[in-house]
Amino acid sequence: MNFFTHEQVSERILRIRDISGTAVYLLSGDQKTALLDTGIGIGSLKEYIYTSFLKTADLIILTHGHLDHVNGAAEFYGVPVYLHPADRPLMRRHTDAGKRLQYVRQNAAYTGAEISAVSRDEMIPAFDPEETLPLSDGQIFDLGGLTVEAIHTPGHTQGMSMLLLREERTILFGDGCGVGVLLIEDCASTVTEYRRSLKKVKTYEACYDRILRNHGTCSSSKELLDNVIDVCEEILAGKDDHIPVKEAPLACREQIYLAKAVRPGTQLRLDGKEGNVMYIKSKI
Ligand SMILES: [Zn+2]
Ligand SMILES: [Zn+2]
Repeated sequence: MNFFTHEQVSERILRIRDISGTAVYLLSGDQKTALLDTGIGIGSLKEYIYTSFLKTADLIILTHGHLDHVNGAAEFYGVPVYLHPADRPLMRRHTDAGKRLQYVRQNAAYTGAEISAVSRDEMIPAFDPEETLPLSDGQIFDLGGLTVEAIHTPGHTQGMSMLLLREERTILFGDGCGVGVLLIEDCASTVTEYRRSLKKVKTYEACYDRILRNHGTCSSSKELLDNVIDVCEEILAGKDDHIPVKEAPLACREQIYLAKAVRPGTQLRLDGKEGNVMYIKSKI
């Protein structure tokens, strides 16, 4: 069964999607290869990377602790795995095999994958979060002619880190800024703190032209950041569209609101702009 597909983003950046539709990125420097995120951990990503590109990862950087990003790490035995320490408890909660299978099944409609054939046999065992190395704000990894710089951006999760690839004029927003940023779980920050994180990213804006993400189209135009900052301002001013969400993407004990109105069944905003936030009142 084929669990992965790939596409080249640039000569040194490769996007690999797993069976849940989540993307990971393989960066090839002159000396080292880095893997940014590891997917849901169903099927062997390590084998796919080796057989397709004759490469292996020298280091792994996890953008945050959610299940669809961290669970492929364990098979890269002996490779250093970096994660912001604030997301260690979240990562621990998100290694559960049942939750991972459920996530893949929920996303099958998008990926078109034959998920009925997916079993626990294909699951990569959980990676112990305590084995991760601390990823810190401003930390730089030199891959040889290509650097990765971590920018700590609490919001989607407390440990969320965006990754700047200066030489490629590219930034990986991950799940940290996109078409429907979730600020609804216990692990999420308030909208106020999230806005602060996005303003920090704004100070790096001259360093990149390309935005990468881990879901959906996996790319966005540069206006995305300003659009989402504007959405945060509107929420904080009580002037957003404040639409109650009926079908919540995640279990939440509170009513979830979508900040900007979209066309039914899509993430396309009615005003044509890209960028949206789901939030709860207790986290404004
Ligand atoms: Zn996430
Ligand atoms: Zn995700």
